[in-house]
Parts: sequence; structure tokens; C-alpha cells
Amino acid sequence: MSSKKTKPAVKKPVAKKSALAPKSTPVADKDKTQVKQNKTISLLRGMKDFLPREEQYWLAVNHAAESASKAYGYRYMATPILEDASLFIRGVGRGTDIVEKEMYIFEDAEGKRIALRPETTASVARAYIEHGMHAVPQPVKVWNVGPIFRHDRPQAGRYRQFHQLNVDSLGERDAVVDAELIALAYNVMRDLGINTRVSVNSIGSAEDRERYLVELTGYFRTKRHALSEESKKRLLKNPLRILDSKEPEDQEVVAEAPKIIDWLSDESRKYFMRVLEYLDEMEIPYLPDPMLVRGLDYYCDTVFEFFVDEEVPENGKPLALGGGGRYDGLVEQLGGRPTPAAGFGLGIERIITAMRKQKEGQLPTSETEGSVSPLFFAHLGEQSRRRALKLIEQMRRDGVLVNHALAKGSLKAQLEIANRLNSTHAIILGQKEIQDGTVIIRDMASCIQDIIDEKQVSTHAKKILQGKA
Ligand code: AMP
Repeated sequence: MSSKKTKPAVKKPVAKKSALAPKSTPVADKDKTQVKQNKTISLLRGMKDFLPREEQYWLAVNHAAESASKAYGYRYMATPILEDASLFIRGVGRGTDIVEKEMYIFEDAEGKRIALRPETTASVARAYIEHGMHAVPQPVKVWNVGPIFRHDRPQAGRYRQFHQLNVDSLGERDAVVDAELIALAYNVMRDLGINTRVSVNSIGSAEDRERYLVELTGYFRTKRHALSEESKKRLLKNPLRILDSKEPEDQEVVAEAPKIIDWLSDESRKYFMRVLEYLDEMEIPYLPDPMLVRGLDYYCDTVFEFFVDEEVPENGKPLALGGGGRYDGLVEQLGGRPTPAAGFGLGIERIITAMRKQKEGQLPTSETEGSVSPLFFAHLGEQSRRRALKLIEQMRRDGVLVNHALAKGSLKAQLEIANRLNSTHAIILGQKEIQDGTVIIRDMASCIQDIIDEKQVSTHAKKILQGKA
């Protein structure tokens, strides 16, 4: 979460009657002028397009997220991007950066205040209450990948629309749940080749925090002169947040601050020790971080964050890959029954950046790298184009993926594309082959060619893909 000040994203209500503004409104007129002048319309500030050359990373993260979630017994559940704004105001908390500065809010045609979700935990809790999920066997374990919106100040690693893997377990309070969630997130990143550092802390119960806050506020008041402007403001509203300030000038004061771990009740301390013991059992490396508090009001007891190991920027703290914790009070706060719960969110864009850095992998330089298949189907002339289309479709049905450039006429142009796609083999079909019911298989490196029966094309292609041909 940012500690920087951003402009509030709350928009003044626009046309009240209809979200689809009539043509004569000033908004529609402005649009017309832009179209007339043939102006290009650019991406909004803080937004990001995912391009085809990033596909392999996007798919790899989604695949790792899905397989790890399934391996730990979580099931897919999606909530809408739009929610009643009060869900987040009540759930996440008024004093938080997210609610105070970063929410995209608009008024819809019926005058309802709608938010583009700035996180998903409150949405998951709402869905749990709304669908009476307390009545099904507990815990309810769900996962999801989807977009999140925060009107934050755009900078490296900070977008206004980004994506998170969110994993939540509702209905059970046990240290094993917290430890398994940490293990799940850790394994997602390990599967993606990221060396991850896990920071863990306990922020105890609401009562523990109340007692601690008296001590902490007293301490920060004595050091007020040395704090950053942002932290001075936080001192009035949410002093706990000063602990995870990223401002360099706050670091010395923060390092000397009283630690919440010394203010935990026996119950919270034992609970935290069990989380750490279970992590040891699962051989998940972690570092206790007494200053970790997380930015949202709903957390209690265990909190954790993930970083790229050994990434220490010169100024301030590294950006987290993700974070989470226990939120036992949230469901009740949103009008449900008392329901213990815990979860985490991992930022997909930051994971992709880490994957690229870790592999020293730049993005593929061409849009075509990372193609679906090392096989390429080439044709010679209109008749063979038709037959090629039929054979390619047949191969797909047989589970063999193959690239082609059927829209191109000349063989030379097609083989150039085959080379660009790093194809190892070309399957070539000309007039003679159609008459004979055969195809040519050309090894692109050696140029050695085989002629095979066209009925054998899928079987032969599979052998090539398995390295047996
Ligand atoms: P948070 O809910 O703020 O703890 O965010 C969880 C994770 O989402 C962070 O650790 C980041 O990986 C990611 N994240 C949060 N805010 C942004 C942002 N503005 N742009 C990109 N990723 C973000």
C-alpha cells in the first residue's frame, strides 16, 4: 500500500438519470469532437495493456495459481468487479488509504454509489453471508484471479488497474489454516521460479492492539519532529500505519518503536507460535518482522507479506509481491455471524516482473515468440489451401496444435514465418501431394524431407513433438 498522497478518486455525480448519457450532453459532444479530429485515444494513466508477447507469463501465473489452489483444496469463486461502495467503507475501514484516497466511486443511473473493487476480501465476505455459506461444511475455501482498481499515484510496480490471485478460507480459526495459506502462496511463487522471502508477524486481538496503540502513539508523539509529513498525518488517524511507512526519514524512528509482539495476550502469542511451528514443519522459510502490520482494518493475529528474496532497494522498502492475514471480525462487521477467516492476495503484475528479473528474461523481442507449436503447416496454391485447412482442423481435433499462414500465397513467405516462429518442422502440401494423398514433412534445420500418408499426419506430428520421429 502506498504511503504517498494521491488525489481522491471520488468523482462528482454525473448525469443522474441514465448511465448512458444522451447524445446531446456535453460529454457526448466532446466525444464527437475527438472522433472528428481523428485524435488517437490513449491508455488511461496508471493502466496497462497485456500484450501477446507477455502471454507466456500471464498463462504461467494463472496456471500456477490454479494448480496450487486446487492442490490445497480451494475452489474457484468469482465476485463482481462492481460493488456497493459502502461494502468497502465498512469492511476495509474509513481510515485506510484504500478507502480514503484510492477508491474509484461513481453514482449509477439509480443514484447508488458504486465502487470498482479496490480489493476482494470484503466481496468474498459479502458473498459468504449472502449465500448462507455458514450452513455448508466449514471452512469454505475459495480462490480467484481478477482485476483490482486503486486510484493510486502511478509509478513502477503500481498501477491503477492490476490483478490479484486471492485465496480465502472462511469458517475456521486454527493456526494450520494460516500456515497452509502461507505455504500455498509460497509454492505458487516457487513454481514460477521466484525466490520468495516471507515476512510474518502477529498483530494480536483488537484488545491487544488497543493497549499497544496507547504505547505506540505516546512514543511517536515524542518523535513527531523526526517523522515524514505523511506519518505526522497518520499519527492523528492511524498510528499503526507509520510502522509500514516507506519514507526513508521514518525508518530510524520506526526501528526504535515498541513492538506489538511484546503486547500480545497469551492466547495470541501461543497462536502465533503455532503458525511458526507449522511453517517449520512444512519447511517454508520465513522471517519474523515485528513491524509488519498491513494497511487494512480487518486484520487480526497473523499477518504476512511476500517479497523477492535479496531485493533491497537503496531507498526505503521493497515492493511486496503479496500479503494477507487473519480477519476474524470481518464477516460479523458486514452483518454476518461471527466467522473466523484468513486469506491473501498476490499481485500478478509484480509476480511477472519478478519472473522476468529472476530469469534475467526480457520479454520476447517479437510478438510471435513463445508460439503454440514447433510445427508449421505450409501450402502451395488454392486447392492445397483448402485441403490444408481441413487437415489442420483434423489435427486440432486429434490434439495436435500447428501454426500456419494460410492467408499467405507464396511458399517462401510462409516458410519465412515458420522460421520466425522457431518452427522445427514444416508440413508441406502441394498439388502432387493432394493427388497422392500425402504430405511432406521437412526438418527445418537439416532440410531433410519425409513423405508420409496424409492420414498419418497427426500420429507422425505427435512423434515429432515427443522427439521420437
Ligand atoms: P494489498 O492488498 O495492498 O496488500 O496488495 C496485495 C498485493 O497486490 C501487493 O503485494 C501487490 O503485489 C499487489 N498490488 C497492490 N497494489 C498494487 C498496485 N497499485 N499496482 C500493482 N500491484 C499492486
